[in-house]
Amino acid sequence: MAKLTIRDLNVRGQRVFIRVDFNVPMEDKNGQMVINDTTRIVETLPTLKFLIEQGGKLILTAHLGRPKGQRETSMSLRPVAVKLADLLGCNVAFADDCIGEKVEQTVGIMKPGDVLLLENVRYYNEEEKNDPAFAEKLAKVADVYVNDAFGAAHRAHASTEGVARIVAKRGGQCAAGLLMERELKFLGEELEKPARPFVVILGGAKVSDKIKVIDRLLEKADTILIGGAMAYTFKLAHDVKTGKSLIEPDHKHTALAAEAKAEKLGVNFQLPTDTVIATPVDSGKLNKKGKPVYDLTNIRTISGDIPDDAEGFSIGAETEKNYAAIIRGAKTILWNGPMGMFEDPRFAAGTNSVAQAVVDATQNNGAVSIIGGGDSVKAINKAGLGSKVTFMSTGGGASLEFLEGAVMPGVAALSDK
Ligand code: AMP
Repeated sequence: MAKLTIRDLNVRGQRVFIRVDFNVPMEDKNGQMVINDTTRIVETLPTLKFLIEQGGKLILTAHLGRPKGQRETSMSLRPVAVKLADLLGCNVAFADDCIGEKVEQTVGIMKPGDVLLLENVRYYNEEEKNDPAFAEKLAKVADVYVNDAFGAAHRAHASTEGVARIVAKRGGQCAAGLLMERELKFLGEELEKPARPFVVILGGAKVSDKIKVIDRLLEKADTILIGGAMAYTFKLAHDVKTGKSLIEPDHKHTALAAEAKAEKLGVNFQLPTDTVIATPVDSGKLNKKGKPVYDLTNIRTISGDIPDDAEGFSIGAETEKNYAAIIRGAKTILWNGPMGMFEDPRFAAGTNSVAQAVVDATQNNGAVSIIGGGDSVKAINKAGLGSKVTFMSTGGGASLEFLEGAVMPGVAALSDK
């Protein structure tokens, strides 16, 4: 059922308790924590600006890192408050706790349009345990609950679920922020009745990680294109040799079952027809973790069996061409997982050409293109094409779970329209 969004609320003068995703990468520079990438903060700005204009009193809660219930100063949200003030162009107050009398007093003197960021909610173990007493303490300063942290909505924590339940029980409204609204629209509604042809591109390391998504999307897609190391388990299931490639022998049956389902449903299910391989040779050196470093030598493209001493690292040029042609004709595209080890430029061509084909379909064929989070978002940004697709999910694990059709506690707790 559709969820209430902040467009449906009247928040004037109300204390709006907002769960945001400010889990930004930080680095210690000469004893000071510096934010390396502000994307997550920037993405919440539309929600925050909207609520400020509507005259709400904004109380923001978030987590940073894994402090495991300790007051870990390197994981304080204080630098985020400074950056947020800068980006919003207004004052942002900071409370050095997320619960307690001081927080309540500070909130007590807030005026409409004021913004307060609370300290890292994971300084308390009770957060991840979704402890009801802790959720009550957080909810003391909430008239209305808003969740804009899609990336954390697959977890039932106090700030993502518990507080919402308490606010709702008191008769208060619980709504999706604008970022959450877009995630639900593109990963949810748009894929319910997609414009056809609907092409799904799935890659990444493991079949076992993606099987639930494959299974669900087989019921909706016209074509599924498989890439990444995941493809080698499918090959293995057909008795093709995979050499030293990353495989999951225990999941051969999973792969065959997916293919059988595709055939039954008439889905065009494609595996790579060629592979970029290399021969790993022990360099005699150790990496930072003490593991041997292998030089990847004799990089070449093959079709058929992968030699015993070689390993697959990406789809080959023939597959690239075939996949790109199918993608360019799509009207809806969902992409999750790279076509190979794209982090190494020697194996990035397959992923990059899929990214370019997704962009071409979006720009020239009017396709809705949805990039389902995690490494495919990294890959498309690395290729400089991020602004040329319809939507890139901000969730990693959350996007995958949502695409699997799982109930997300942080979404389920929001009020129905
Ligand atoms: P996932 O998180 O499952 O989407 O997997 C993404 C990771 O899989 C990336 O770090 C890729 O480098 C890696 N990957 C994809 N294809 C291969 C491959 N053929 N060999 C090794 N790693 C791969």
